[in-house]
Amino acid sequence: MSANTWETGFQQLGDGIYCYITNGKTMMSNCMLVTGDECALVFDVLCTKPLTEAFLQECRRLVDKPIRYLVISHCHGDHFLGANALPEAIVIGHHSLKAAFDQDRATPRMEAMQKRLPHLDFTDATYPYPQIYLTDGCSIDLGNRMVEIRAMGKCHTEGDLALWIPDAKWMALADVLFHNVVPPTISGDIDHWIEVLEGLEQCEAEHFLPGHGPVCGREDVRAMREYLQQVRVQAQLVADGALSMKDEIPSPLEERMIQAGWLETARTIFSTEQYAAKIKGVPYRANMPRVLAVEASRNR
Ligand SMILES: [Zn+2]
Repeated sequence: MSANTWETGFQQLGDGIYCYITNGKTMMSNCMLVTGDECALVFDVLCTKPLTEAFLQECRRLVDKPIRYLVISHCHGDHFLGANALPEAIVIGHHSLKAAFDQDRATPRMEAMQKRLPHLDFTDATYPYPQIYLTDGCSIDLGNRMVEIRAMGKCHTEGDLALWIPDAKWMALADVLFHNVVPPTISGDIDHWIEVLEGLEQCEAEHFLPGHGPVCGREDVRAMREYLQQVRVQAQLVADGALSMKDEIPSPLEERMIQAGWLETARTIFSTEQYAAKIKGVPYRANMPRVLAVEASRNR
């Protein structure tokens, strides 16, 4: 199996811990269910109601406890648009979710997305506004099993949440961790993100569920941190005028990621530009039609 293909679908990760791993491509993210003796918690859902229903159906076949909580890790639709499949759960999210949801709904792009991704059914897409907003994180007792929701600060987005299951040493990181997939950084903070990943390399977790890509260990957290550090190095060259980025030609860093077999390598362009702008102290706004066009040309 090469780096950019892996087993997808429903998987059991441990005692009462299940996940759904997708192929990691556009809008395809991972999610997790963890159960205790009294109830279960779902960390993220998938991007459509039918995909989420398929995941929950498998879970309910194996778990007879009610799913009481749904944690939304961050404001990107691939992690929550299918939440209509779980209307009974109490939704928990970072306090920045409300503004992000409001803003997203004010610029309707569902129709365009449906056209772009005809193989996915966004008919019942929803914005699951949380009942509980978090700033710092919290602990939840699922019945003989405590789990912890951790606020990671601004890494991939304004407010990223992670799920820590101490008795199993599993951590679900959503888009704070990409594995064999280049992360998009344009709504995040690369410097803080690197610091958080450095901390995770030292933490007590032994197994990680990334937001995109297969389950992994500490060495893959390090690989992701090293990638972000290489973005900073390449951005410095761009800021110094020693390297210019071109949409049609992969940069040296993108070449390395292609060689390593990571998916979505065009994202290196925008991360490099974003960080070069930070070095120069100028604002950076990604031109989304250009981002989509470059990504599509690389994936052809
Ligand atoms: Zn995301």
